[in-house]
Amino acid sequence: MKQCTKCGSENVIIRRKASGQMLCRECFIESTTRKVLRTIRKNKLIEKGDKVAVALSGGKDSVMVLDILNSLYRRNIIDLFAITIDEGIGGYRKHGVDIAIKNTKELGIYHRIESFKDYFGKNLDDIMADRRREHGACTYCGVFRRWIINRIAREEGATKIATGHNLDDETQAILMNYLEGNIDNLMRIGAKTEPMSDKFTVKIKPLREIPEKEIGLYVIARELDVHFDECPYSKESFRGEIGRFIKELSVNRPTIMYSTLKGFDKIQPVIRKEFRENANMGECINCGEPSSHELCRACLFLKKLE
Ligand SMILES: [Zn+2]
Ligand SMILES: [Zn+2]
Repeated sequence: MKQCTKCGSENVIIRRKASGQMLCRECFIESTTRKVLRTIRKNKLIEKGDKVAVALSGGKDSVMVLDILNSLYRRNIIDLFAITIDEGIGGYRKHGVDIAIKNTKELGIYHRIESFKDYFGKNLDDIMADRRREHGACTYCGVFRRWIINRIAREEGATKIATGHNLDDETQAILMNYLEGNIDNLMRIGAKTEPMSDKFTVKIKPLREIPEKEIGLYVIARELDVHFDECPYSKESFRGEIGRFIKELSVNRPTIMYSTLKGFDKIQPVIRKEFRENANMGECINCGEPSSHELCRACLFLKKLE
């Protein structure tokens, strides 16, 4: 008979293959929350008095970050608000934005919603339909989203930006950039980014030790409102391929994502020390955002699509 490892309840909702733990709903929520708070403490992601901006898409990961950080906000440990970006993806984005609004309203959290269209004059669908485009959707989306979030965080006086990156995302990033030999990106992976310019806000990833599957279960167990739709552009990416590959390996080797992350975290300080270039972060001559070139990536992309 199945019993919760912690309290003995028979209403087991998960068996963690990596640890053998079986947990009921209450114990699963408690243990997962504690795990996230431990990641925060261990990596010094948040200090008392921080003003944290959650990059809130309305998907399960960012809604879970908001839910857990909200407990710190209620206890007056941090100040908290949310930023949602409307990239303009037909038939997909509006649903996420609506859910993000619902979540912040229920919690009484200040919420900024900003769109690609307002900042750049075009949305992601326009860019993807443009025959002059040179990159995939995720590249444009990532660059433009970071540009807006960084600017809003600064405007609002945020001291941290929290994102919903989970264990699967982190493992994918490690393997993907390793396979591509992308040392620059490998240096940036971590629980906390060291900003290269004081115009950048420190980014933190409280969920990076939580597997994606458990995030899905957490939002269901907590009865949180999220959208599970998949971005229509996500299928075309190399990251997606890597993700499927790691998932497949994990079936027979359930600890593989944890060990990939742990091993990487150990060697990363060495990589950073060895490869850190003193990239002189200047400012983009067009928009004033930090950039190591004359034009930042966002402005460069826009110029080519003009
Ligand atoms: Zn229990
Ligand atoms: Zn720029």
